[in-house]
This record gives sequence, C-alpha cells and structure tokens, in this order.
Amino acid sequence: MIMEEKDLKISPQAGVNDQAVDQVLRPQNWDDYVGQAKVKQNLRIIIDAAKKREESCDHLLFFGQAGLGKTTLANLVAGELGANLKTTSGPALEKMGDLAAVLTNLNKGDVLFIDEVHRLNRMIEEVLYPAMEMRKLHLIVGKGPGARTLSLDLPPFTLVAATTRPNLLSSPLRSRFGASFKLDYYQTQDIEDILKRNAKLLNLNVDEKAISLIAKASRATPRVANRLLRRVRDYAQVHNHDPITEEAAKKTLELLEVDELGLDPHDRRVLEVIAQKFNYGPVGLGSLAAALNEDKSILEDVYEPYLISIGMLMRTPAGRRITEDAIEHLKKYNANL
Ligand code: ADP
Repeated sequence: MIMEEKDLKISPQAGVNDQAVDQVLRPQNWDDYVGQAKVKQNLRIIIDAAKKREESCDHLLFFGQAGLGKTTLANLVAGELGANLKTTSGPALEKMGDLAAVLTNLNKGDVLFIDEVHRLNRMIEEVLYPAMEMRKLHLIVGKGPGARTLSLDLPPFTLVAATTRPNLLSSPLRSRFGASFKLDYYQTQDIEDILKRNAKLLNLNVDEKAISLIAKASRATPRVANRLLRRVRDYAQVHNHDPITEEAAKKTLELLEVDELGLDPHDRRVLEVIAQKFNYGPVGLGSLAAALNEDKSILEDVYEPYLISIGMLMRTPAGRRITEDAIEHLKKYNANL
C-alpha cells in the first residue's frame, strides 16, 4: 500500500517519496542489517544449508509491521543465495493470468518476493499451492464443459512472502512456508545505529543528541527513522544548521507535531476519543473507527500496533481501553482530561 506523502508524517507505510530513499538506504549486507539478531541467525542457517545441498531454499514468510525491514530481508536472502529477486505484491496479482505470467517468467533458483501476501485472493492462492509444493502450474484453459487443465513444470524457486497481517493468511497457505519469521519493533539503540549509518550515507553531520531524539520519536521503526532524518535534514538545510543539532531535531519534530514518544496528532486523537467519547474504554473497533471517521483496517494496521507496543492502548475481549500511562501522556496536550 503506497500512501501519499500528505497522509504521512510518521506512518510506517511506504510513501511515494520513501521508495527512492528506501532504495538508497536499504542495507546491502547482513552487517548493515541492524537488530533482529535471532531472525538473521536462523535465516543464515537455512540459507547456508540450502547452498550446501545445492537446492533451492525453503519458502519463507516474514511478518511484522510496515517499515520494519521485510523487503530488505527479501533482498538480503536473494543476495545471499546469489539469486535474482523478482518482486510483486498481493494486490498486483488480481487475475489468475497475472500470477501465471510471474511464475512462467521465473528462472532456475530465482527468489520471488510477494509483498502484502494477505491481499491475494483465494483463487490465486490456490494456484500458488501446487507451485510452492510441487513446482507445478495448473492452468484451466477454455470455459464450460470443454475446459481442461494444463499442467506446466516450473523451475526450482524460493517464494519469500511478507505480510503485516499474518492472521489474514489462510492456513493452507501458511502451512506451505518452510519457515516464518516475525520482525519486532527495534530497540532505541538499534534505531540510533541505523540513523548514524544513514546520516553518513546522506553526507550529514548529526549530533549524538539529535540522533537520540530522532530515534526516540521513530516509533521503533527504521522507515520512520529514515523519514524523520530527511525532515530534520530539510529543516537544517533551510536554517543553515551544520552540524545538525538537538535543537534542529526538536524544532523539526515540533513542526511535525510529533511528540517525544513518536505520537502524532492522529495517534493522540485515537487515545483522546477513547478517553472522552467512550469514557476511557472499552470500545469496539467498529464504534471507534466510526467516531474517528477512519477505516477499521487503518486503525488496526497503522495506529494500534505501536500504541499497544508502548503500553498506551490495550485490546481486551470487551474492546479497546486506554491505559493510565496514556492518560498521563494526554494530559500534557489536553487540559480537559
Ligand atoms: P517493510 O518491507 O517491512 O515495509 P523495508 O524493508 O522496506 O520494510 O524497510 C524500510 C527501510 O527501512 C529500508 O529501506 C531500510 O533503509 C530501513 N531498514 C529496515 N530494516 C532495517 C535494518 N534492520 N537495518 C537498517 N535499516 C533497515
């Protein structure tokens, strides 16, 4: 899902302007891929074993919030296997023919990356099953009583799929991956390391304190860190700050209305509405989405995961509730609470 930049301040979803920068800053080797130590370790074992056996690697599933590094991992896996990476996404594979075209274009050993795999429709998923399991592509040719199935052999390939919503994957699809890995939010120290590396790549001279401030506001997410770094760079350029100081970082965050926890006005509004309209909760997702005039899936995918991860919001069987910490935080911005 590519969003317009105006929709984003700190949303982890990729925006139109993120793509080019994502490419430049995307780690090209395992050492530059900061954090996620367990995932890296396990992946390297799977890859090394496949290389030793001279077989294609097991199909892999990466899940976790947007901007945590799933696409980057897919690139690293392909690089490590010495394979070509072919990229597509769930929403791009609308018709059976779309997937058939992708599969028949695969060469021996290729890595096929399907982003947002939870958005594949069921009919297309069913074409994937035999392709993943037996390297067969079953095509139905013709219509009605004359229709017949054509079976094509596919070359050995590795499917790497990514999703922000693993619970929306059907269990037959999930079970066809040899291994699946969850990417977690990053430690602040890891985000600082990423920011330092990227400041260097962008030829920026950034103070330690500025790095630390940006890292804390980055929602523990590398893509958000990269985007905030760009905004701070813009501010510093316009105001002739070199090196980039804590003050420049602070001013930029103030202009973006991003607070010290990385929350923007949209996040705070989610909490405020629960507090003020629903008496601190519990409130069901549907009622909350209606009160905020927001899509349920945006609430679930974009806002809630981070609010939950920093202990501001709880999902309970009775609905969403905000925590004491959230109330304390909101009081800084809203005297009526
Ligand atoms: P996702 O596919 O999960 O949405 P990406 O892999 O596109 O996320 O990551 C977005 C950007 O964040 C990348 O271009 C890269 O610059 C940065 N990034 C992600 N993970 C890491 C990491 N572990 N170390 C360094 N940079 C990272």
